[in-house]
Amino acid sequence: MTTTLELPLDQGPPAAPADRAILDASPDALAAWLAERGEKPLRARQLRRWLVAGRAESFDQMTDLPRDLRADLAADWTPFGTTIARRQVASDGTQKLLLRLHDGRLIECVLIPEADRRTACVSTQVGCGMGCVFCASGLDGVARNLSPGEILEQLVRLRNLLQPNERLTNVVVMGMGEPLANLDDLLAALAVAGHKDGLNIGQRHVTISTVGLPAKMRRLADLNKQYHLAVSLHAPNDELRNRIVPTNTKTGIADIVAAADYFLATTGRQVTYEYVLLGGLNDGPVEARQLAGLLRGRQAHVNLIPFNDVPGLPYRRPAAGVQQTFVDALRRAGVSAKVRKRKGADIDAACGQLRRAVEAELVSPRAERAPESGARSARGETDSEICQTGQQ
Ligand code: SAH
Repeated sequence: MTTTLELPLDQGPPAAPADRAILDASPDALAAWLAERGEKPLRARQLRRWLVAGRAESFDQMTDLPRDLRADLAADWTPFGTTIARRQVASDGTQKLLLRLHDGRLIECVLIPEADRRTACVSTQVGCGMGCVFCASGLDGVARNLSPGEILEQLVRLRNLLQPNERLTNVVVMGMGEPLANLDDLLAALAVAGHKDGLNIGQRHVTISTVGLPAKMRRLADLNKQYHLAVSLHAPNDELRNRIVPTNTKTGIADIVAAADYFLATTGRQVTYEYVLLGGLNDGPVEARQLAGLLRGRQAHVNLIPFNDVPGLPYRRPAAGVQQTFVDALRRAGVSAKVRKRKGADIDAACGQLRRAVEAELVSPRAERAPESGARSARGETDSEICQTGQQ
């Protein structure tokens, strides 16, 4: 039995038009609107500070703004560009938000509270274009990139779930999408997240997870930020990786590892390799030995992720003993490794899973929350596990 709490589906009006939400507004549009009313441009910063640092959720709460201005703002703008379509709370405290975007699309983000940290797991795209065969997020491909405001808003919405004396301490960019395929928008959002007048989350507490796009990894390295980079390897040789991670045919493991080495050399930040353990496919002694051979001597860490079931897909999580044998083999070979722990197991914790269920309900409100289109309906069970981690 689960102790999941579910808030009802929000049947309210769609989210505000993208260009009318303060967190998503173009600086020019907001500046022009303020200028029309004889307001100074710095009001724009004040508004954003209220929303990001000040936890305001309405213009009325912005008590140092003139009353008339607050009324005008409420007539023409909304604070946020998304609405909360649903919230789920797991028995371990993990919370998932389903956010509806201005165009009606749905995205998910997750809050993972732990003893010493409060981690937000965010999405960067609607869907994903990478097509990893075991991952539900990519089953329908990618619809579009999220804007900087839409990425930031996930963080703000999750932070607003915390008690007043709590703050977000960590961010993992491990929700739906390939972060390096939307790098500029992600960086813009993270800049606000890291700012002392923003969410004040240090770069070292941000983990960006990539399928492994070498050129983008090098670009990120050259920015010389302190973000932590996680690379989803999932196989120790190209033949196997081509089958599991189709984009590998365009890159190849050697280029990815070289780019990861470059990232370490440039930023001084050790790279984490993620490796989803798929029973009978990549979890045997041969793969463990090959992976050890690839990473031995490198300053790197391996996060082993036991596959999180996606109904309809023919993959399975290996038995605990197999997981242990794999991690032991890596350690014996001198490679730092651990098996990732699981969070939010009793909610639709995987990114995309909740979205799927709600989309199914909207089509047929009384339908059971079961897959409505075979394998694809499970989309996102995947990322549930992703968000279990925080940083190592
Ligand atoms: N596009 C990014 C972010 C993906 S989500 C990337 O590829 O890294 C973060 C991690 O969760 C990735 O390693 C991804 O491969 C993994 N993942 C996806 N679906 C999963 C599933 N069903 N079970 C376990 N891990 C999964």
